[in-house]
Amino acid sequence: MKKILGVYDSPQAHWVGNGFLVNSLFSYNELGAEMSPFLLLDHAAPTKFRETTGRRGVGQHPHRGFETVTIVYQGEVEHRDSTGGGGVIGPGDVQWMTAASGILHEEFHSTAFSRRGGTVEMVQLWVNLPAKDKMAAPGYQTLLNQAIPQVPLADGAGQVRVIAGNFDGHAGPARTFSPLNVWDMKLNAGHRTELTVTEGHTLALVLSGEPIDEPIVGYGPFVMNSEAEIQQAFHDFNSGEFGVMPPVEAQLER
Ligand code: MN
Repeated sequence: MKKILGVYDSPQAHWVGNGFLVNSLFSYNELGAEMSPFLLLDHAAPTKFRETTGRRGVGQHPHRGFETVTIVYQGEVEHRDSTGGGGVIGPGDVQWMTAASGILHEEFHSTAFSRRGGTVEMVQLWVNLPAKDKMAAPGYQTLLNQAIPQVPLADGAGQVRVIAGNFDGHAGPARTFSPLNVWDMKLNAGHRTELTVTEGHTLALVLSGEPIDEPIVGYGPFVMNSEAEIQQAFHDFNSGEFGVMPPVEAQLER
């Protein structure tokens, strides 16, 4: 049986850029060891945006040492990065971005969505990488809703979308560096369900993964194992080693 280790309040919501009003449900700052291999979970509760001809979101910024997983529930998010990865994802779609040795990216509401306005709801999960993979090549996976298996729970209790790992024999589409499960579940009121979680995995919401038993040192967009590696990340970023974002026109042709 899993034991509940703690129940935590989430702090005040804060803006990420001008597009995402998020609550950090947990962060490695306080709960690094307990939540490993997960570093952070931001939830942007449903927020209404008026139509605009401007852009809403976060402009170009770097990351190193981990992966970001963005799940959209309402609205549309547009992403571009220095590996040439990018695209628009909508409700049910997932972006799994591997920053690893270094990536530059931007995250905005899609242009079409901004023009018509509407409600945005999404989560972003940060997944740590083992020390041996922190300097691996960056990458990007788009996981569209139709590629994510939906598994009904017994007795009408709800359903599970298997984004990563495995649930009841159904494998999720995400490639991961360490063993973990990301199950996106809808539970119906008044029902019970039992979930089998791998022995030894950390459990939060229904994210489970093998703990990465290594030091966590993070600063802003970088999460490494030591202060020296964080300084190196700033140095590498400032000397342009994270590459460059492709021009917008070049990417639209892809
Ligand atoms: Mn980012």
